[in-house]
Amino acid sequence: MGIIRNLAASLIVFRPSSVRNSHAIIMSRRLHARRTDGVDKNVWVEFTQLAADYKAVNLGQGFPDFSPPQFIQDAFCKAISGGPTMHQYTRAFGHPPLVKNLAKFFSRIVGHDIDPLEDILVTVGAYQALFSAFQALVDEGDEVIIVEPFFDCYQPMVVMAGGKAVYVPLRPKGGSTVLSSGDWVLSAEELTSKISPRTKAIVINTPNNPLGKVYKTEELQMIADLCIKHDLLCISDEVYEWLTYDGAKHVKIASLPGMWERTVTIGSAGKTFSATGWKVGWAMGSGNLIKHMKTIHQNSVYHCATAAQEAVARGFEREYELFGKPESYFQQLPAMLHHKREKLASCLQSVGLQPIMPEGGYFMVTDISSVKVDLNDQSSTDESHDFRFVKWLIKEKGLATIPVSAFYSPEHGKEFDKYIRFCFVKEDSTLDAAENILRKWSQQK
Ligand code: PMP
Ligand code: GLN
Repeated sequence: MGIIRNLAASLIVFRPSSVRNSHAIIMSRRLHARRTDGVDKNVWVEFTQLAADYKAVNLGQGFPDFSPPQFIQDAFCKAISGGPTMHQYTRAFGHPPLVKNLAKFFSRIVGHDIDPLEDILVTVGAYQALFSAFQALVDEGDEVIIVEPFFDCYQPMVVMAGGKAVYVPLRPKGGSTVLSSGDWVLSAEELTSKISPRTKAIVINTPNNPLGKVYKTEELQMIADLCIKHDLLCISDEVYEWLTYDGAKHVKIASLPGMWERTVTIGSAGKTFSATGWKVGWAMGSGNLIKHMKTIHQNSVYHCATAAQEAVARGFEREYELFGKPESYFQQLPAMLHHKREKLASCLQSVGLQPIMPEGGYFMVTDISSVKVDLNDQSSTDESHDFRFVKWLIKEKGLATIPVSAFYSPEHGKEFDKYIRFCFVKEDSTLDAAENILRKWSQQK
């Protein structure tokens, strides 16, 4: 309302005396900025609402439906009862104990001395770290290469920064017998062919949402070599870094030779400590890159919730001490999720759906082309098959998932609209409820 009132107030000056209706005056001039054109649809807004409207069993949006571990809940409680400073602003670019503990923790992993004050920016979730990276580093007309399938917000964020998104898909190498996310590969030739003099950055996401692909060192090295050869930045979204299975190993591209200087690595406490609602995230990289992101941050969000940052700081302190030990949450969470991954996979197989086994993350993609349902009733027929299928599944069967073409550019979505994504970071009882729905349905078919 504020902007509409202000606009109306400023327009009074220009109001022709014959026009009395201020509403008509507002409508006579463009209200919205052009950068919002074409980025108004959002899969999370749409499907989270639909799942709620139909009270569906929700294996759609990626959030745990269980509580974060007790130690981090205790840390938050302690923070909010810890005196006045915990309720007031802290340092704009990150609460000092948090940046200190992040630097200490990740220096050991990246093999590089991370400066807590220069090389880290704490943000409102990984979303704001991504937004600040694109705003700070992508200029009008710059091209940004995005590997498909990709977490959907990368594209609107590039566009809103004035850049142009250029896509390169991971391709399934086994034809119709693709069984693992590791079968989806990035061709060096195809990636190279997308690089132009305007290319500024390559965006990767490992472990990948939605596929669960965990990039191998050789694959990261190939991307790194191209970044170095063509003087490109790399924005590496690693929010699922602790969630890998069956011996897959998460490698930070920033740890490869020559990459620290040109990589922004993005993380999320929401994923790390199963507390997505806290919205604490971070960007890490050379101070030369991060300083530009700080400029965006200080002129927009400025600062993130103090008590949540304090709690996350304590979480990393604990994990530093327990690193590699069985008590570490970074060991326990993937162990718990490994069991849930198996549970969901066998449920899907038992009803004839072949999952693509994720090597990481907490999502599982499955091919629905063998499922015969009449989707003619489902809203507009110009929507892609997976969108219509997911709507049908929510409305008719009470089970929410996410259409995979949402993770593709409009140009390539059609090729991949035979897949849907299930989330398995859910209570076993939620997974059981989903299984009941699928079994009942398969028995009716
Ligand atoms: N990147 C990826 C790949 C994601 O799946 C998500 C969703 N949580 C985000 C970034 C955003 O994370 P956050 O909730 O910390 O903003
Ligand atoms: N990252 C989460 C997912 O992929 C949720 C994103 C959102 O709700 N905006 O499901």
